[in-house]
Amino acid sequence: MSQALWHPYAQMQTQPAALKVIGGSGARFTLESGEQLLDATCSWWCMIHGYGHPRLVTAIKQQADSLCHVMLGGLTHDAADQLSAALVRITPPGLNHVFFSDSGSVGMEVAMKMAVQYQVQRGRPGKHRMLSLMKAYHGDTAGCMAVCDPDEGMHSLFSGFLPKHLFAPAPTTAFDAPREAVEADIQGLREMLEAHHHEIAALLMEPLLQAAGGLNMTSPHYVKAARALCDEFGVLLIFDEVATGFGRTGKMFAAEHAGVTPDIMVLSKGLTGGYLGHAATLATDSVYSAFLSDDPNRAFMHGPTFMGNPLACRVALESLAVFEEEDYLGKIAALNAILRQELAEDADLKAHPAVEDVRVLGATAVIEVHDAASLEGVQDFARSRGVWLRSFGRWLYTMPAYVTLDEEMRQITSTMKDWFLNASPAPALGD
Ligand SMILES: *Cc1c(COP(=O)(O)O)cnc(C)c1O
Repeated sequence: MSQALWHPYAQMQTQPAALKVIGGSGARFTLESGEQLLDATCSWWCMIHGYGHPRLVTAIKQQADSLCHVMLGGLTHDAADQLSAALVRITPPGLNHVFFSDSGSVGMEVAMKMAVQYQVQRGRPGKHRMLSLMKAYHGDTAGCMAVCDPDEGMHSLFSGFLPKHLFAPAPTTAFDAPREAVEADIQGLREMLEAHHHEIAALLMEPLLQAAGGLNMTSPHYVKAARALCDEFGVLLIFDEVATGFGRTGKMFAAEHAGVTPDIMVLSKGLTGGYLGHAATLATDSVYSAFLSDDPNRAFMHGPTFMGNPLACRVALESLAVFEEEDYLGKIAALNAILRQELAEDADLKAHPAVEDVRVLGATAVIEVHDAASLEGVQDFARSRGVWLRSFGRWLYTMPAYVTLDEEMRQITSTMKDWFLNASPAPALGD
């Protein structure tokens, strides 16, 4: 067994050997043995076009022929210029400036740093803390760990090392809840802002869908109210759309369900269709202008080596072209209809004693169970049915690639349901 490769979130002593993937096409990847698995997670939610998409592969090859990388310090290139313009075009109105980095976590670090420096340069240096939400997940770097849910998050071990931020309660109402039902959640936000606004630089949230923190969904009314509260209290609003961006909630960006523009917005995962690591932090004119000055020290002091990498920018542009030309929002609506019909509206599933809740939003569905133990073995069971499912904690979910065919989507939903309703012991699988 090779111990050179250290896997993520893995107990290397007891973890079974990782399956070796040699390729893939559409929503499926292929193992060394020839076994094919239908990926219900599209590789941590980023491979929205599936594997081996010919247009994306070609875009990378063509870009590689002319320019693989160049620093963005003092230099630019077509792919970065074009991608920044395209992101301004497709994101909520007013987000007119784009800062690139290499991963979702770094994109969030950039957002937080930008918010703090903004407040300093607007003469409010006391506003240097973040207000986050319980059940939030914003990444694994130190700054991001400090704004993840401090109890349920994976990072409580590091509490002595991390800066202390503020947390409002996680929202509790469903996506389609009426305004009145959301009032208590909004009140929770208001109370934190009333008590602490003088020390808060920004409120950050994953709008509508708190993803890695347990696929917790909420209403557009909550997101709209957050915008109004931030304006009232002079706090910036940061949307972490790393997971929700590029169609996951049924619209291009979750912010669109609420019709609001955040001050800062972070994109990653689906940005490049998952083909290369990259992220974008977008800002409004009002944020950007706080950095304009005769004084060089008021510039934004950040610059990851690989920001604006030409290969990443080029494949992101191609990803966006495919998304728009091939009506991906229509594909997502079709996947959503299947997820609702097969999971959210399945009375037997919802009545199953192990199941606490079934939720669907856009191309996302989750079965939340009362006790994580009832998901033990589900990964092997799914594999025996030709599906790659990776539950975490009390959540069995799917976030499929948007190219997933209807019958493939039903193969995934029936596997998820059968684990509860029809499971016979999974056959032992070889490595
Ligand atoms: C995945 C994720 C991140 C972190 O992105 P990485 O590319 O893994 O660093 C941040 N925020 C959200 C909402 C995410 O889902």
